[in-house]
Amino acid sequence: MAEKNLENIISLAKRRGFVYPGSEIYGGLAGTWDYGPLGAEMLHNVKDAWWKKFVSSREDMYGIASSIMMPETVWTASGHLEHFTDPLGSKKFNTMFKSKAGALKGETIDIYLRPELAQGMFVNFKNIIDSFHPKVPFGIAQIGRCFRNEISPRDFLFRVREFDLMEFEYFVKESDWEKNFEFWKKEIRNWIKEIGINEKNVHELEVSEKDRAHYSKRTVDFEYDFPFGRKELYGLAYRTDYDLKNHKLDYYDEDTKERFVPHVIEPTFGAGRTVLALLCEAYDEDELGGERRTVLRLNTKIAPIKVAVFPLLKNKPELVKKAREVYEMLKPEMSAMWDDNGNIGKRYRRQDEIGTPWCVTIDFDTLENDTVTIRDRDTGKQKRLDIKELACYLTERLK
Ligand code: ATP
Repeated sequence: MAEKNLENIISLAKRRGFVYPGSEIYGGLAGTWDYGPLGAEMLHNVKDAWWKKFVSSREDMYGIASSIMMPETVWTASGHLEHFTDPLGSKKFNTMFKSKAGALKGETIDIYLRPELAQGMFVNFKNIIDSFHPKVPFGIAQIGRCFRNEISPRDFLFRVREFDLMEFEYFVKESDWEKNFEFWKKEIRNWIKEIGINEKNVHELEVSEKDRAHYSKRTVDFEYDFPFGRKELYGLAYRTDYDLKNHKLDYYDEDTKERFVPHVIEPTFGAGRTVLALLCEAYDEDELGGERRTVLRLNTKIAPIKVAVFPLLKNKPELVKKAREVYEMLKPEMSAMWDDNGNIGKRYRRQDEIGTPWCVTIDFDTLENDTVTIRDRDTGKQKRLDIKELACYLTERLK
């Protein structure tokens, strides 16, 4: 059994360039983590898969990228100034980061860094209607950074002070909210499967009234069995017409000549918590060919490096030249890594540890017949392929 404890995962993440502690050379800043080259690639793959599934492949979804800074008036209307608090001693502590915009005395205004994405969608509701005339039901989606002054950040990427959210507000008629709530609940489950999280590790929790956010009439949390306990991964909330009403916004249906305030279903996905759940899910230790190894069994869609290319020996110029040709052919098509360091066994183990699904080796036979060895991460099985077929073979499997 793999030791899926958090220390092993943090240590792998740091050693191999997925995630580093924020501002580490100055002693670090609690609640901040920096994504290294492999983590940034993985985070990008998560966001890209999410955007494809929930935004660009759908006719009813409008993707935006709104500002992080918003004036106090937004947060008064949304109820966050009053309610976005955590208990601290006997007091309520508002976890929004406050700042000032402008330089001249008397001309500065109070602003807040957004603690969630939703208000960016609500303040653009009218813009989207005026530009695109969508029919209800429709959604406004975005991916972006949010900030919360968490009282005690902890558990690696799980509770941090700045993080990326992937979220949409789906506008429906009030009478249709339950049907849409069920639809998006299923779609969240599908997403979880599609990115490679085992369904048995995810549990739906019906959140009780006292634990729901101030705007929600029904919330279902999707909890994941993290090594440190069963904790919220995603949320699905029925926000009613709370936000649009507070911002004094409504919708006019040109066909039925009806004016009404749509109700809102909001699925919300933490991108950092997704990366963490995927690392926990994928982390494994096993024995292959009589040797112990650590392997990240990441879904090929999410794996930061899709293929690694090796010359069998780095001191044979003809092998290196041929391997460079193969690497340069693959690199524009997919995220590929060059490795000529150490023996082939060591290179395989390094790639297994970062979840690379395929390794390609260029050896002396390649020089004779233009074939290469391709080795599969999960089974360790190898076969020979024609260089001509290689790019096609890989892109087919990445689809
Ligand atoms: P929690 O109860 O864990 O504090 P929450 O109920 O405050 O979470 P929401 O306000 O529903 O969370 O936030 C939406 C999503 O944002 C969560 O499902 C989670 O994926 C992510 N998220 C929230 N807070 C953090 C944080 N401090 N660090 C990383 N991700 C977070």
